Amino acid sequence: MEHIVTQPSETAIDIACDVCSQSTRVEGYDQQLVTLQAHWGYGSKHDGEHYEVCLCELCFFRTLSHLRRDRMVNTMFDEEPDITEDEFGLVRIK
Ligand SMILES: [Zn+2]
Repeated sequence: MEHIVTQPSETAIDIACDVCSQSTRVEGYDQQLVTLQAHWGYGSKHDGEHYEVCLCELCFFRTLSHLRRDRMVNTMFDEEPDITEDEFGLVRIK
């Protein structure tokens, strides 16, 4: 029996996460990645510096977890925290 392997008509580009170096392609779907970026302007300590870091889903949520923890420490003595911990950074759900 002959096995037929179909080749994609175009070479798929696979973008690796800048933190863990793993592929950001999800099997059967497209790339799933986010970009953390900053372009510091006049008056900032890093004027003229431009940063861009590609993150996979796992590394994004690890980063968000660190930020969430910092936020919790910074607001732990507030009488009325303005957001719940689980919603930090969440804009919307489908
Ligand atoms: Zn990663």
